[in-house]
Amino acid sequence: MEAYVLHLLVLSHVFMVPHLKRECEQNLESSFLTIDNVIDVFQISLLCDAPRLSLICHRMILSNFKAVSESEGWKAMKESHPVLEKEVLESMIEEENNKKERTRKINERKIYMQLYEAMEALVHICRDGCRTIGPCDKDFKANQPCKYAACKGLELLVRHFAACKLRVPGGCGHCKRMWQLLELHSRICSDPDGCRVPLCRNFKQRISKQSKKEEIRWKILVKKILRTRGIGIAPCFQQQ
Ligand SMILES: [Zn+2]
Ligand SMILES: [Zn+2]
Ligand SMILES: [Zn+2]
Repeated sequence: MEAYVLHLLVLSHVFMVPHLKRECEQNLESSFLTIDNVIDVFQISLLCDAPRLSLICHRMILSNFKAVSESEGWKAMKESHPVLEKEVLESMIEEENNKKERTRKINERKIYMQLYEAMEALVHICRDGCRTIGPCDKDFKANQPCKYAACKGLELLVRHFAACKLRVPGGCGHCKRMWQLLELHSRICSDPDGCRVPLCRNFKQRISKQSKKEEIRWKILVKKILRTRGIGIAPCFQQQ
């Protein structure tokens, strides 16, 4: 079958023998496609109106691009169908851009997720206390083991923040991060009066004095963080 399958596909298409055509397509799709013949099969599938087969060929070309572009079939296509070659190349570039975009989105999502977890841990530390830090009216040593993944890192950051000599906005990198987390918290917090996170209310009051541009920047960030978790308002920031 292998030696004749391409011819049979063309003939069955020209003489309109649909069951034979389907049989040829299935055979090509499942077992006869190789790096060397994929370009020929791709071109014939386009001519014979076999969309599924052409899609499978196209995918194979994209995922084995280097090898396929060195095949005899590719060279022949370049000669006889330069427009098709150009289209395949363009689809290759598009595919790479899509891949980059997907990676960028995954990384972005990771960052928003980490920020959300930091926000949860911040409220948890200030409200319940954990390990070595927490509200003085609570016995928080018993709160172990802790279920917040970001808690340990945040604990270190808070301890640094409390002891650092450069504690000004824009000072040391750790402190700067702590300021940003505190401000972000206040942007998300829906209960500043009952909230135990330091400066929550102060930041809320400061919002009115900020420029429109900065305001929009924060709003976008908050929206993205909350959307990452698929929620409108973070449950841990609502009144308890
Ligand atoms: Zn904890
Ligand atoms: Zn510092
Ligand atoms: Zn708050």
